[in-house]
Amino acid sequence: MSTKITDVAFIGLGNMGGGMAANLAQKGFRVRAFDLMQAHLDKAQADGCRVFTSATEAVRECDAVVSMLPNGAIVESVYIDQDALFDVMPKGTLVIDCSTVAPENSRRMAKVGTEKGMRVIDAPVSGGVAAAAAGTLAFMCGGTEADVEAARPVLAAMGANIFRAGDHGAGQVAKVCNNMLLAIHMAGTAEALQLGVNNGLDPKVLSEIMLKSSGCNWSLEKYNPYPGVQENSAASRGYTGGFMVDLMLKDLGLAMQSAQASQSSVPMGAAARNLFSLHKGGGEQNNGGLDFSSIQQLYQR
Ligand code: NAD
Repeated sequence: MSTKITDVAFIGLGNMGGGMAANLAQKGFRVRAFDLMQAHLDKAQADGCRVFTSATEAVRECDAVVSMLPNGAIVESVYIDQDALFDVMPKGTLVIDCSTVAPENSRRMAKVGTEKGMRVIDAPVSGGVAAAAAGTLAFMCGGTEADVEAARPVLAAMGANIFRAGDHGAGQVAKVCNNMLLAIHMAGTAEALQLGVNNGLDPKVLSEIMLKSSGCNWSLEKYNPYPGVQENSAASRGYTGGFMVDLMLKDLGLAMQSAQASQSSVPMGAAARNLFSLHKGGGEQNNGGLDFSSIQQLYQR
């Protein structure tokens, strides 16, 4: 089926979804937006989306649904259980779930959605909040070739790179591998910067040196974890916004599950999971809501 997609329902307008929905509206899609938080609805409205008081109302008339929700339990509750959106949206709707969830969640979504006459793909993203706002995300898709192709115009309005990793759930496997590597190089970058600072170096100078040396990596280049090195980094605004420690811990948990299921050895990933878990802490010292680059603070303690 290749009908033109014009009306897109968007569920989950948080750090990532807010920018993505704004880009869809700006590129000419009619966006029907919903989030549980009023402040996010107000922002979406200001960005050109039409807002609704429930997810059910948002998906009632649409060609496609995009969701950007915190985790697999919420995704399943929205589509299958509590809100049961699969029972409300028009038959043949293309569902593009961009949330990071377990591959099993995506496979279940595809199975139930297909049984109810919908087309479903998993399309988790990489790039962070800045790329979501700029419309330069990378999408890692899982689903049939035809459905990924059908989703392409919608994804292209929000991103710069669109990959099909394989069948349902394959996008999530790619995402888990990527984020395990991200956690490893973010922790490694924080560790190296702290070693330099503790030995008298200016973190800005050390960063400039490593950017032109073999230690160069994405965390150092785009997401420096040391406060004051990059003007617009999460580190320079008290580790607010961005990608929360809790979400990174979720992704590292998914990586451990995938490793267990496939009997893979992931010693670096396991170390990263433990570092982020130590950093998260608990009680009054819970850092789960900080941006994940705040792992720098673990090395400063
Ligand atoms: P977020 O917490 O900022 O946004 C999630 C939004 O979903 C919130 O606005 C929340 O109110 C809304 N929501 C929760 N339950 C809902 C429901 N039942 N109905 C409607 N709305 C609901 O999180 P985020 O940082 O935007 O991340 C979203 C997803 O994107 C996660 O799966 C995350 O792992 C993934 N991701 C995040 C980043 C990043 O840099 N933040 C990067 C890549 C992928």
